[in-house]
Amino acid sequence: MDLEIRVRSLKISIGNEYASVKQSSASRNQHSSLKIPFVDLKLQHQPIQAQIEEAISTVVQRGDFILGKALADFEESFAAASGVKYGIGVSSGTDAIALGLQACGIGAGDEVIVPANTFIATLIGVIKTGATPVLVDCDLDTALIDLRTLNKAITTKTKAVVPVHLYGQMVAPPQLLELAQNYNLLIFEDAAQAHLAKRDGYCAGSVGRAAALSFYPSKNLGAFGNGGIVLTSDSKVAEKVRALRNYGAPRKYFHTDIGTNSRLDTVQAAVLNVKLPHLAEWNQSRNLAARHYDALLTPLKSQGLIPIHNQSEDGHVYHLYVIRVSADCPLKRQTIQEELAARGIQTGIHYPIPCHLQPAYQYLGYKAGDFPNSETLCQEILSLPMYPGLSNHQINYVVNSLRSLF
Ligand SMILES: *Cc1c(COP(=O)(O)O)cnc(C)c1O
Repeated sequence: MDLEIRVRSLKISIGNEYASVKQSSASRNQHSSLKIPFVDLKLQHQPIQAQIEEAISTVVQRGDFILGKALADFEESFAAASGVKYGIGVSSGTDAIALGLQACGIGAGDEVIVPANTFIATLIGVIKTGATPVLVDCDLDTALIDLRTLNKAITTKTKAVVPVHLYGQMVAPPQLLELAQNYNLLIFEDAAQAHLAKRDGYCAGSVGRAAALSFYPSKNLGAFGNGGIVLTSDSKVAEKVRALRNYGAPRKYFHTDIGTNSRLDTVQAAVLNVKLPHLAEWNQSRNLAARHYDALLTPLKSQGLIPIHNQSEDGHVYHLYVIRVSADCPLKRQTIQEELAARGIQTGIHYPIPCHLQPAYQYLGYKAGDFPNSETLCQEILSLPMYPGLSNHQINYVVNSLRSLF
């Protein structure tokens, strides 16, 4: 088995017309044992590990584990970087959606429009407020919520829309704002995959009344555990989230809301403070890697492999690099995944089952066929390895491996 992989890889490296470096026999040997993980977090942590340990140690010495100094510092820095006035750290991205929407006045009896093609947490956040998610299909090329059909989902109960900046690409801000204005809808961005993404001069999290982001470890900015933040420039919304995350108390032992316990730990904020200054550079590295993928994959379009379309150029922060194994492709997605795995390349599917077909959400009353583009994408999408520091050499290997299958 091992030998078979080695022989195969060797053939690929010899036939590699894109490789910029000629393979010496030593590096060919290395190439043949190349393993490309889906995400490599060690790569980003190693150079700053000492700094992170020092930051954690400072929190331990101060002992301000809950709502401490590092949290206030991080909230201020991250809000400023995203172009908004306030950041309120919470326990997760899911809570950021729930508490952020609640602070915007969303609750029972309201309808909130969300894309059918998203991670399930978008729906969970909406449902936690007591509101009902109303699903809208996505655009097949960008995988983002289809703004052209969104108006069909609007009823007298519709209060808000939650655009999801999926895979790291923002939903077009001008069109979104125009639509929201025409129908008097509140915009609440799910920017959990889009830290510092840009489009048309807007930064992710600064388009709507408020936004939610996640610091799940593998997100573009990840903590050493769970975490999230609500961003807003509205002081009332900010105050409300601050109370909601802290037992509903705007000041100690005075409870205006039932609220919950959902603060971002000071230790996590300390980690994020060290990582934040690197985020722009990491995002840029992802964008460059994606451009390299795009260029190499162009000849494979004729085989039905189609990258999800980037309409925001440098502003796309590529949380994920996703291609479609379209109906025109002679190979099955599963076969491609297995063959890549046999060559040491990890891939993923984000996400394999659309929200409206998940067992827990049958009560919403949707059925197969309701959101054809989302359903098609779930069948066709494949996420290739993507992380800051993924080298051109590694990308060459991934694409050459793909080419070798046809
Ligand atoms: C990760 C993610 C969330 C949830 O964030 P958690 O921190 O895991 O709760 C919400 N929406 C999207 C689009 C995500 O990718």
